[in-house]
Amino acid sequence: MKIDMHSHFFPRITQAEAAALDPVRGPWLRVDDGGKSGQIMRADQPFRPVYDALWDVDARLAEMDAQKVDIQVTCSTPIMFGYEYPTERVMPWVQRMNELAIEFCEPTKGRVIALAQVPLQDIDAACREASRAMSIGHHGVQIGNHMGDRDLDDEGLVTFLQHCANEDIPILVHPWDMMGGDRMKQWMLPWLVSMPAETQLGILSLILSGAFERIPESLKICFGHGGGSFAFLLGRVENAWKHRDIVRKDCPKPPSEYVKRFFVDSAVFDPGALRLLADVMGTDRIMLGSDYPFPLGEQQIGQLVADHPDLTDADKKAIWSDNAIDFFNIDVKGVAA
Ligand SMILES: [Zn+2]
Repeated sequence: MKIDMHSHFFPRITQAEAAALDPVRGPWLRVDDGGKSGQIMRADQPFRPVYDALWDVDARLAEMDAQKVDIQVTCSTPIMFGYEYPTERVMPWVQRMNELAIEFCEPTKGRVIALAQVPLQDIDAACREASRAMSIGHHGVQIGNHMGDRDLDDEGLVTFLQHCANEDIPILVHPWDMMGGDRMKQWMLPWLVSMPAETQLGILSLILSGAFERIPESLKICFGHGGGSFAFLLGRVENAWKHRDIVRKDCPKPPSEYVKRFFVDSAVFDPGALRLLADVMGTDRIMLGSDYPFPLGEQQIGQLVADHPDLTDADKKAIWSDNAIDFFNIDVKGVAA
């Protein structure tokens, strides 16, 4: 069985609906004649070319069948987060997106399941919406890796993580609003350089701040894109923790000891990188994730794991399905490609 736990959807939001959130920057979907392709738009500006599997669940199921993906966990495209708006303006938007996610999944009878988005700019509202979303059928939440200049060690964000730990709400952390600004203007550098750094920053903010010491061990938290730069640079962090008191001042244990507190997905695109990831994280903490249906995702979902010379059949089964079944409490009975 294959469960792809990192995929996105974007519903058929009209320009008028987007304008109610923000007339200038509200995201909406322009579908081309024929219905097979389109553009995510911001007002009249194209943001990203996309194709029908992003919004048409039948097109998605056909691709899942072709790729032998049994179950897919899907969540908002991060441009939908709306973290920059006041709560009263964003709340109807967030709740509408979460309802549309459930509508998207409903005809698939458990083959596509959803993670909710929450208004992270208002922690009380985010906690309430996370709980509400679980009650209407979501399997967890997706959050951005930071909220403006606040990282995951921010007191409010830690409160949100504690809430999710206490209510058994699994979390996928996704990089967004990438660092680097004007120096990342071309060649998709925000995706290639900033995204992995954002994810590493999210993980290190939880480790080095000691936040993991204040969050129950029941927290289920997964970082996308293989945890970004984290695994490759853990040795550098460990060395810094040993030799500089300013690195260890808030972090009582060596950084490597916190690896057991979180999960990552398998979207690293290279056998050597996956080998390192398995060495650092353990195969019990990696879940199949493709970033479907975008061009920077794994195009043959699960192939990197399938072809890997060093992974045993038990490792592959853990990464493909067993870890995600436990993490997201997925009921797999009667669901198969
Ligand atoms: Zn993604």
